[in-house]
Amino acid sequence: LGTAEGRAALIAAVAAVVIAAADELTALDQAIGDGDHGANMKRGFAAVAEAAPTLAEKPWPDLLKGVGTTLVMKVGGASGPLYGTLFMELGKHLGTAPDRAALTEAFGRAIEAVKARGKAEPGQKTMLDVLIPAHAALAAGADAATVKAEAFAAADRTVPMLATRGRASFLGERSIGHMDPGSRSSSLIIAALADALS
Ligand code: ADP
Ligand code: MG
Ligand code: MG
Repeated sequence: LGTAEGRAALIAAVAAVVIAAADELTALDQAIGDGDHGANMKRGFAAVAEAAPTLAEKPWPDLLKGVGTTLVMKVGGASGPLYGTLFMELGKHLGTAPDRAALTEAFGRAIEAVKARGKAEPGQKTMLDVLIPAHAALAAGADAATVKAEAFAAADRTVPMLATRGRASFLGERSIGHMDPGSRSSSLIIAALADALS
C-alpha cells in the first residue's frame, strides 16, 4: 500500500465487491426500502473505480477525501451522504502513513460523524449496526479475518431489528425479519478492506 499501484488495487478490489453485490443489495432494499440501494452503490463505486488510478496517486487523507466526495456526488439517497461522510472523515483523521492504532482512532471518529449526520444511534437497523461492531472488534485487537467475520455477523443481527431510522422505519413492525441493506453493503466494504489489508 506504499505504492500508487497498491492503493489503486485496493480501491478497485473494494469497488468490485460492491458492484458485484448490486443485485443482492437491490433485493434487500426492495424488501424494506425503495429498491435502489444496489443501483446507488453500483453507480457510486463505479465512479470510485474509474477515479482509482488518479486517487491512488494521492496521499491517504486526499485519497479518502476523494472517495468520499465521489460517493456523495454519485450514490445519492440516504446512504450517499453517510458513506461520503464516513470516507471524508476517515481522510480528515488519518495521517499520510497510518498504522493500526491511527486507523482505529480515525474509524471511530468517522463513525461519530456518520451518527451525527444521520442523527442515528446503534440498534436502529442502519449501517451503524455493522460499522460500530466492526470498529469494536478492530479496537479490541482482532485480526482481519475476525473483523470481517464480525461485520458479516453484525449484518445478520440486523434481521430481527425494528427499523427506527431511514426508509425502513416507515414500515414499522414489517421491517422486522429482513437484513438492513446498508448494513449488508457496509459488511461487504469492511470484508473487502480486511481481505486487501491482511
Ligand atoms: P434511500 O433509503 O434514500 O433509498 P439507500 O437505499 O441507498 O437510500 O440506503 C439505505 C440505507 O441507508 C439503509 O439500509 C441504512 O443502512 C442506511 N441509512 C438510512 N438512514 C440512515 C441514518 N439516518 N443513519 C445511518 N444509516 C442510515
Ligand atoms: Mg433505497
Ligand atoms: Mg432511494
